[in-house]
Amino acid sequence: MRFLPVFLDMQAGPVLLVGAGDLARAKLRLLAAAGARVRWFATDGHHDLGGLVAADAARIERADGNPLTADLSGVIAILCAGAGDIGPVMSARAKAAGIPVNVMDDLEHSTFIFPAIVDRGDVVVAVGTGGSSPVVARRVRERIEAILPARIGDLAAFIGRWRKPINSRIGEFPLRRRFWERVVDGPIGALVLAGRTDEAEAALKDIADPSAFAGAQGDGKAEGRVTLVGAGPGDPDLLTVKALRALQDADVVFYDELVSPEVLDRARRDASRVPVGRRVGKPGIGQDAINRLMIEAAQSGQRAVRLKGGDAFVFGRGGEEVEALRDAGVAYSIIPGITAGLGAAAQFEVPLTFRHEALRITFLTAHKATDAEAVDWSKLTDTKMTVVVYMGMTAAPSVRAGLLAAGRSPQTPVGVFARVTRPDAQAAVGTLDRLPQLIEQIDGGPAILIIGDVVAHSAPWRQSDLDQVLSKLLDAAE
Ligand code: SAH
Repeated sequence: MRFLPVFLDMQAGPVLLVGAGDLARAKLRLLAAAGARVRWFATDGHHDLGGLVAADAARIERADGNPLTADLSGVIAILCAGAGDIGPVMSARAKAAGIPVNVMDDLEHSTFIFPAIVDRGDVVVAVGTGGSSPVVARRVRERIEAILPARIGDLAAFIGRWRKPINSRIGEFPLRRRFWERVVDGPIGALVLAGRTDEAEAALKDIADPSAFAGAQGDGKAEGRVTLVGAGPGDPDLLTVKALRALQDADVVFYDELVSPEVLDRARRDASRVPVGRRVGKPGIGQDAINRLMIEAAQSGQRAVRLKGGDAFVFGRGGEEVEALRDAGVAYSIIPGITAGLGAAAQFEVPLTFRHEALRITFLTAHKATDAEAVDWSKLTDTKMTVVVYMGMTAAPSVRAGLLAAGRSPQTPVGVFARVTRPDAQAAVGTLDRLPQLIEQIDGGPAILIIGDVVAHSAPWRQSDLDQVLSKLLDAAE
């Protein structure tokens, strides 16, 4: 992100427009709609205001003279549209004076750019593409137009009118936010969106105790809670709708090292983000400390999200955390996530079950060699069973040895799937006897192992079959 969207107060001072023709007039219309005062230097000498209503036209000052020597004091922004060669020169002047400048279709000479906008009164959405593609921005805008209720601006204005009087009656900051969330999400908001603002006003007036309406407990504090959220294997689009909502409502997010930055980015901007996982080469803060942090956050009235890679209940210690929350009497809920094994299966087309071929799945962890020794491999020799191994990179030689000793065929197909659903995902497939070599082909974890005949159906396996056929053909041709 090079351009940060900010909203400029058009009442703060005049905007200087330099240019002519339809391009300049389009900018005039936009500025006029925003209530701006405009000082317009028509570079072709024609100050034609055709198409503007009188009230808007009245705020436009037709300036004569040379914009390159004009007085810039008090000017809040400079725009060049249809200004020709004057644009870059004007831009240099604006930059020297520290005034934001836009030269239309000229990123190099602009210090700000115009987003595509959705304008619903007080609610304005700005869509930018860093100047690279206005067409993409417009498409995004169309989609937003389609999902926003028509009266969303009315709702914002309604809340704007009531904000001060209500906030003064609610002491706690978190409660204020929750009060307005309930208004927006509940029947009062629905009334405004249905155009029945009078009834909404009456309903809001009827609220005798705003703190209680906001869900305050006996002690007047907001109710805190912990939500265990499965973050999935990395791709933020794999978050569930519920997970996204929990992230958007969070006051604080306690996250693991496995959680991708893109997922964390979907949390509410103002939420504090607390890493509690193991860092590279450093131990984590420990499970007891994590439990304590979550409990304290909930007890102080915050909405805490415990964000875990994949699913909290698949090798994620979610069970222990839930027990601690239960013991502490803290309210909690659990939102499942897509576990790494399923992410790998979908991305690399490994059907974990297959009619007549694979009838069972085992999820296994083999973190250290000692874990692998503790596994009863004789239970995993069924050729109709797919074995999914978590944390199995280091212990891969022991996994191989255990399975072979128990009698699983060395020709069993296996796959190592690394950083699945992330932009740098990687796969290595082969047979069980070559498992350690496959691990070496991978440029770092996290990685998951899938063992079983189903791996032969996977996309990378079929690709390697194809490659072999091709190289044989090539050899034969030579
Ligand atoms: N709760 C997590 C698993 C945590 S255990 C889940 O449900 O996915 C950590 C192990 O998960 C890693 O050692 C690796 O085997 C696997 N894993 C997690 N994210 C992964 C990813 N993006 N790609 C491949 N394996 C992953």
